[in-house]
This record gives sequence, C-alpha cells and structure tokens, in this order.
Amino acid sequence: MSRSDYWGDIESTVKNMWLDYELESVDDAYDALAELADSAVTYTSTALEIMQHTDNDDAFTDVGLEGCGSWSEVVTRAAYFAYRADLYDEASKWSEEDIFAVRKVFRCMDCNDVTPDDEKHEDEEDADQARCDSCHADWVEELAVREAEDEEEEKE
Ligand SMILES: [Zn+2]
Repeated sequence: MSRSDYWGDIESTVKNMWLDYELESVDDAYDALAELADSAVTYTSTALEIMQHTDNDDAFTDVGLEGCGSWSEVVTRAAYFAYRADLYDEASKWSEEDIFAVRKVFRCMDCNDVTPDDEKHEDEEDADQARCDSCHADWVEELAVREAEDEEEEKE
C-alpha cells in the first residue's frame, strides 16, 4: 500500500462513517472511530502498513505499551491509536454542511431536527433556511391565519 492509497482509504472511511453511523460532527464520533480502528487493525501486517504511513506514529504514547507481551502486540497497539488519530484528523476537516451534504440531510430551521433532504421545504425568501414536512405544514397554516387576520383588519 502506498502513502496515497493509505490516505485515500482514510478519506473514504471517514466519508462512509458519517453515513453509516449517522453522525453530525466529529464530536459524536468517539465510538465510531474506536470501532473503525478496531476493525482496521486485525493483522500485524496491516498494523505495520499503518505505522509506515500514519501522521500519528506517537499516538500510543498517551496510553503506553503496558500489557503488551510481544512485538506484534506492540505494533498492533501503536497502529490502533495511530489509525484512530488519522481518522480523527481527517474527520475534523469536515464542516456540518459537508457532512450533511454527504448524508443528504438538513437541519430544520424550526424544530432543529436533522431530516432527510426529500422532506426539505426551502423558505422562498432565504434558500439557506428550510423546514421539515411537519414544520412546513405548521408554517403554511400560520401563514393562512395571518392572511385571514390581515383581511379582517382591511375590512375594519
Ligand atoms: Zn421541523
């Protein structure tokens, strides 16, 4: 595996992580990062490759090597923390907007829920603002009430 293959793999792993774990930011990603690092570092040969290309070959020093009974355990532990830190660094580059674009979701301006794009109703006046199905229905109802009130006022 070349260095660019390795970092390509880090990038696609992070991209899939947003989708698979339905995350909103790297702050929610602790468990996901641990799981992904765990499944990546299964063989000593993989661990060696990670240690060749990582930007975080010192990440294990926070934890140390206590309990490692062999060289293979040493390199596996170092690789686990290195890989997790590489994923974290890549994930930290993503804004909420980028993450939501990949997940095809948006945040409703009224209820704040993260909602699939196919339930998206954009505000005509402000394209950045959008409502979910049910908030949109409430909004339409509220507009109708307001219009009726305005008409009442005009009559008076
Ligand atoms: Zn809503």
